[in-house]
Amino acid sequence: MITPLMPTYARNPIAFERGDGMYLYDTDGKKYLDFYSGIGVMSLGHSHPSLVKALQEQGGKLWHTANGFTIPQGERLAKRLTDACVADTVFFGNSGAEAIECAIKMVRKYHHDKGQKGRYRIVTMASAFHGRTLAGIAAAGQEKLTKGFEPLPEGFDVVPFGDLEAVKAAIGPNTGGIMVEPVQGEGGIRPIPAETMQALRAICDENGLLLVVDEIQCGMGRTGKLFAYEWSGIEPDIITAAKGIGGGFPLGACLATEDAASGMIVGTHGSTYGGNPLAMAVGNAVLDEMLKPGFFDHVIEMGDMLHGRLAALQQRHSDLISEVRGKGLMAGIRVPDIPTRDIVIDLIGRGMIPAVAGDMVVRMLPPLILDESHIEEAMNHLDASLTSLRDKK
Ligand SMILES: *Cc1c(COP(=O)(O)O)cnc(C)c1O
Repeated sequence: MITPLMPTYARNPIAFERGDGMYLYDTDGKKYLDFYSGIGVMSLGHSHPSLVKALQEQGGKLWHTANGFTIPQGERLAKRLTDACVADTVFFGNSGAEAIECAIKMVRKYHHDKGQKGRYRIVTMASAFHGRTLAGIAAAGQEKLTKGFEPLPEGFDVVPFGDLEAVKAAIGPNTGGIMVEPVQGEGGIRPIPAETMQALRAICDENGLLLVVDEIQCGMGRTGKLFAYEWSGIEPDIITAAKGIGGGFPLGACLATEDAASGMIVGTHGSTYGGNPLAMAVGNAVLDEMLKPGFFDHVIEMGDMLHGRLAALQQRHSDLISEVRGKGLMAGIRVPDIPTRDIVIDLIGRGMIPAVAGDMVVRMLPPLILDESHIEEAMNHLDASLTSLRDKK
């Protein structure tokens, strides 16, 4: 018999009851170090006092008005986000998938309004993840996402990861844009090298294409900059953000330059919930913390430390760890000879929550507020786990 909760997830039986900073507590009171953050969402950790305060204050005043009225909290968040990056304007939704949908629509509308109606195709990269809408799964193109859901929206050309020649070959008269994750998350924590990002920008410029960066996982401070594209020195046309942007409150954003968004006039796009006062109050509170002097420096410092410790771990377990990957506090270790799920389950038993990613990678997305002691604790768990799983092999 089907479960009342639709069985689309392989759920661990553990249920958490509360969270505090870097730690989660399950219904039996057991404590876990959180190196997962609910898939990179809890960027400021659990129960952050200023987020709780913002939610409670706004919750007692006004939750929702719909977008037919002015939402000052949203105007403020949009101004602050656009001041902090290359974008000039933002559309707020409730999830990453909606941000992607907005980006795809924007690419099409841009060319349509410039009188180039056939330019609707978007080049994407293999092993990408762009959310679970029909357009999102079509954009990623992976069979595990698309099988059984055909027919898919048409117009995506998937090329091998980071392959510039393949990108060039995929561009034709109908191409309107290129969409990439600057650091692939689900696909296995794979950063696109800075030179490749620069080359993609150049290809877009030469061909009149819009460059979309999907920063839903790697953005909002995760790599030590507000957005990961900043590391390559390029300027994208459209940026999608979600996950860390709401610190646990459902919030997504599609940011764009004035030119890229030129077709998005009154009536072209919308969302009932998107950018409501409650979401905007929390979004502003998240940004208050992230824009404090030293916040991103801390992420960079902790990211360097994490990668240094993971490199040392790899030396101790060179027979098991084939690669350490990632950028900042988006990290992964590739362990080809042990099923990733076994490692994750063993770590959870020891009191640490990691995540899986594709390509046999154990993924780490800790809250950005961690300190050295948490890295130390995580390394001890990883060390013990790999040692015991090697013995069982
Ligand atoms: C999670 C994710 C999405 C989808 O976000 P949802 O909020 O789950 O819809 C899209 N792109 C990337 C890179 C992601 O990591």
